[in-house]
Amino acid sequence: MDRCDICGTEGRFERFQLREMLFGLRETFEYHRCPGCGVMRIGSVPGDLGRHYPPAYYAISAPPASGPGDGRLRATAERARNRAALFGTGRVPARLLRRWARPLPLEVRRAVPSVRRAGLRSFSDRVLDVGCGRVPGNLIALRTLGFRNLTGVDPYLDEESDQDGIALRRRSIHETTGSYRLVTMHHSFEHMPDPKEAMASAGRLLAPGGVLMVRTPVMGSWFWDTYGTSWWELDPPRHLYIHTVASLEQSACAAGLELVDIAWDSSPVEIIASEQIARGIAWRESASWGENPPAGLDDATLAEYRATVTELNATGRAGRAAFYFREAGASSDRVRTGAVVK
Ligand SMILES: [Zn+2]
Repeated sequence: MDRCDICGTEGRFERFQLREMLFGLRETFEYHRCPGCGVMRIGSVPGDLGRHYPPAYYAISAPPASGPGDGRLRATAERARNRAALFGTGRVPARLLRRWARPLPLEVRRAVPSVRRAGLRSFSDRVLDVGCGRVPGNLIALRTLGFRNLTGVDPYLDEESDQDGIALRRRSIHETTGSYRLVTMHHSFEHMPDPKEAMASAGRLLAPGGVLMVRTPVMGSWFWDTYGTSWWELDPPRHLYIHTVASLEQSACAAGLELVDIAWDSSPVEIIASEQIARGIAWRESASWGENPPAGLDDATLAEYRATVTELNATGRAGRAAFYFREAGASSDRVRTGAVVK
């Protein structure tokens, strides 16, 4: 008899044999799917899981550091410009300083919806990124926007450091202390063996009115229906849990949190990689688009993939999303199929 550690459902859960297809080891791992909340979880966590996180796993480059420009006046003008765009505050100084600032860059415009959803109101708001990785790309992106009270924690960091407004600490979420306006998990939650406990620890770290943002794959969506066990985001054995909206809500509820907003954020890469896995090509192999583009992929097909993910994101059927949580009862917002109903 199986028992779901998220929702408590008991019974015989459906079994799936998933293959490692990021590096192409093709080892199989058994996963179980809960018929109650729909969460997919690994049958047993491999004792040698560390073997599946080689240095190549972290071989991603940091985003370009296009911070405030040279010279104090330009830096001041561009900080005022970013503040006005992101928080809607300080519009008068931003206007007065406009002639010394370059036009608003795309990365700032793109950040506006997530900054608003996260409830951030100033560059001095404290932000914690859990599972920040050896290259803390998400914190570097926030630093580029102007945020300066940034902390990243990850139990697998090589070393701790304090530089340029970013403090990096080698620890788990359970060992982390402090009080944060925003706690983020950018594709780290699905790697954690104890999602309910992680959610509880995240709730403990929120300042009054603070927000927890979890970006994670979403089980049971169009990608699962279309690609099944070839869906790239299953990523066995690194992804220990592939959540559903229901399993995330259950985990949050047990931690005294509630779901207040969802931003679906799949990219065409998920389709490309899933198509390849269905044809037996792993992401890091030489025949892959990820290693040697275009790898037989023509522009028309790529455009079709882009249109598909745009549609999936707009209709709440994508394979990934950012979930926003607040302390239960603190917000009047309610979520229904991806849209906040005020
Ligand atoms: Zn369940």
